[in-house]
Amino acid sequence: MAASVLIVGQGLAGTVLGWALDRAGIDWRMVDAGHAHAASRVAAGIINPVTGLRWVKTWRIDELWPETRAAYQAMAADFGVPLWRDLRIRRYWRTEKERRTSQAKLERGALTPWVTAVADDHAVLAPAGRVDVPTLLAAARTRWLAEGRLTEAKFDWALGSEREGWVIDCTGAAARNGPFAALGFAVSKGEVLRAPLPGLDGSEVRHRGHWVVPDEIGGAWIGATHEPGVDDLQPTDEARTTLLRSAERLTGFVAEPSAHLVGLRLAARDMRPVAGVHPHQARLGIFSALGSKGVLYAPWLARQWSEHLAKGTGFDPAVAVRGAK
Ligand SMILES: Cc1cc2nc3c(=O)[nH]c(=O)nc-3n(C[C@H](O)[C@H](O)[C@H](O)COP(=O)(O)OP(=O)(O)OC[C@H]3O[C@@H](n4cnc5c(N)ncnc54)[C@H](O)[C@@H]3O)c2cc1C
Repeated sequence: MAASVLIVGQGLAGTVLGWALDRAGIDWRMVDAGHAHAASRVAAGIINPVTGLRWVKTWRIDELWPETRAAYQAMAADFGVPLWRDLRIRRYWRTEKERRTSQAKLERGALTPWVTAVADDHAVLAPAGRVDVPTLLAAARTRWLAEGRLTEAKFDWALGSEREGWVIDCTGAAARNGPFAALGFAVSKGEVLRAPLPGLDGSEVRHRGHWVVPDEIGGAWIGATHEPGVDDLQPTDEARTTLLRSAERLTGFVAEPSAHLVGLRLAARDMRPVAGVHPHQARLGIFSALGSKGVLYAPWLARQWSEHLAKGTGFDPAVAVRGAK
């Protein structure tokens, strides 16, 4: 029987971990300081199989896609809320160089099977997906508060926990100042808008540097900016203007935002997520550095944690705790 676990943080990482430990029959509880600064509350929830100006296939997408899709569909069934949507991404080239780069990759099969059509000014990426992250967090929080598993409080790392065998850091950007700080993390500020944008095709994301993602209520997420190294949470007029311009170009509509949200993405030096045990403290773990692709990686990392706790299985070397100084 696995030891009991305290999960610190109920963002996407903590939520998917709690769900996975439940399924594995592992005893756990959770403490969370509230979602005011959680990156998960501003995540549009997209799984995009090909990213960046150089059209790079998302790391591990081929092997993780089936597991990730099945996991969120199972979470939707367990929590009784709709969470998953299959999508395609209509991605427009910004420059001739970008078009040539992507076409060269297509010709040598480097983007197979994720590009399904090519037109004069864009390509269609599919399958892609979207998880309604705020709904997942809210459904899990309601259940776990009612069950007495989740306590709303800020965990003090200096005091630690006497009750649980294991403590797992799922604190998102706050992990850069926590017990795993020596791993060396970086943040990137991201801003996103929500706006009513009627008439969008609900199964299609439009993308040209920024994306317009239809939501479930006749509106859209418009995002996101990336500012590496910036760690304030202030919304800026500059981001608002940039995102609205992109949305107009992609949809032909002038959007009037109903919300302007800001979050911090956390990344490790090598841009890989991190899951594993502290180099000097047994039974202290981490599940973090999800960067801008947390939705894809969270179910995989949660499975590794539940297998580690239940059977002592090792973590995949590509994500195991590494590089502590
Ligand atoms: C603008 C933007 C858009 C994004 N879009 C996407 C997207 O489309 N697709 C995608 O896959 N990813 C996206 N991301 C990335 C995604 O948001 C993250 O990968 C993911 O949400 C990180 O989840 P987390 O649980 O690690 O951290 P968080 O969501 O930040 O959660 C951490 C939680 O820990 C709590 N906490 C912190 N310290 C303590 C403490 N001491 N005690 C108790 N609780 C504590 C916090 O209150 C918070 O609730 C986006 C990010 C941004 C900023």
